[in-house]
Amino acid sequence: MIAEIIAVGTELLLGQIPNTNAQIISNALQEIGIDVYYHTCVGDNQERLMDIFKTGFTRSDIIILTGGLGPTRDDLTKETVASYLNLSLKVDKYSLGKIKSFFARRGKPITENNYKQALIPEGACTIENKKGTAPGVLLNNDGKVIVMLPGPPTEMEPMLKEVVIPYLSQRCSSTIISRVLKFYGIGESALEEELKDLISQQTNPTIAPLAKMGEVTIRLTAKAKDRMTAQNIIKPVEDEITRRVGDFLYGFDNDTVEETVAKLLFKLNKTIAIAESCTGGLMAHKLTNIPGISQYFERGVVSYSNRSKQELLKVKADTIKEYGAVSEQTAKEMARGIRLTSDTDIGVSITGIAGPDGGTPEKPVGLVYIGYSDSDSEYAEQYFFNGERIDIKERSVNSAFHLVRRMIKSLGD
Ligand code: ATP
Ligand code: MG
Repeated sequence: MIAEIIAVGTELLLGQIPNTNAQIISNALQEIGIDVYYHTCVGDNQERLMDIFKTGFTRSDIIILTGGLGPTRDDLTKETVASYLNLSLKVDKYSLGKIKSFFARRGKPITENNYKQALIPEGACTIENKKGTAPGVLLNNDGKVIVMLPGPPTEMEPMLKEVVIPYLSQRCSSTIISRVLKFYGIGESALEEELKDLISQQTNPTIAPLAKMGEVTIRLTAKAKDRMTAQNIIKPVEDEITRRVGDFLYGFDNDTVEETVAKLLFKLNKTIAIAESCTGGLMAHKLTNIPGISQYFERGVVSYSNRSKQELLKVKADTIKEYGAVSEQTAKEMARGIRLTSDTDIGVSITGIAGPDGGTPEKPVGLVYIGYSDSDSEYAEQYFFNGERIDIKERSVNSAFHLVRRMIKSLGD
């Protein structure tokens, strides 16, 4: 079955918001084995929407529209689709009741245009919108499935996942699943070289390497009659890849390196403290995004000035004077200092030059040192990162997590 997605909204065409709905829907459809052939985007204009819908209805089996279900005059998705299919619009009593009580609760009068949200084409089903007032619409017409969902992603996504995807997956006979393997510390070409024979023989699953921001991922995608069979197709290939390059594998699918680090801290029962200079607390921020980390994360210190490095982290004045604040020696003393002052198992530090100014020929913008300290080892690594200030901060933090992951893993060995 072929699907296409039509995003409705002038703000999309003006570039004010990205069309993330199409991305989310495509992703969900590919997981259930439905091929998406087209994404289109059209403004809040009836004639052009009609034209695009007509094209979609002619060439695809499933047409999913998002946006334009709201109460205002420029919201005309339902009206346009109904008009093209020669269907009248009828009031959906349940939705109307919800809209009325929504306004009653807020003590606001309900205006005429709000009734518009409760109208659906005759013969259609509504898809309940638990996060907003405009219901979605599911319609079967001439062997095609037409789905209309509201524009706001927080409303659209649950309706898609809870209703639309289960409905569509019943109607199609195959499943596609993907498994993403995430690597760090090996380049894309080196990884491809290791897996050359597998990649050249690939059919089911397909093996697709992708490099981004200092890491490489491999997506294994299998198509089969059901989920379990697809998983069984992926498993041996995944095992073979892990056997060859498992040393560089740090996670799967949506795993982040900070989650991997957190899991290792939980598993090995180790506490950590972080001292950051150029990254301004970004590492601590990422770590504290993980629920339950409070047992293992003792503190994070942003020590930007030389004075704070000495006062809070006990970095020696001589070290800074002799080697500079951005140096291997300072990074090591920062890591040791934060570990000892906070009495944790592990101390980590980041010090570098995030730019755009402040670089010298010996110490260019992008030079970063990451320090690590535990009771057995002390260590600092030098990095050169490219990019804007924020990219350098991101990359530094990412590398710091990877360094910690590597070091704690060895604690567990
Ligand atoms: P509302 O009842 O909020 O008006 P609606 O179904 O009429 O919802 P739109 O008016 O088209 O939807 O869009 C409302 C908001 O939803 C937009 O301002 C935007 O923030 C978000 N939105 C709309 N379409 C998309 C899209 N394709 N991708 C991401 N966000 C979107
Ligand atoms: Mg709207």
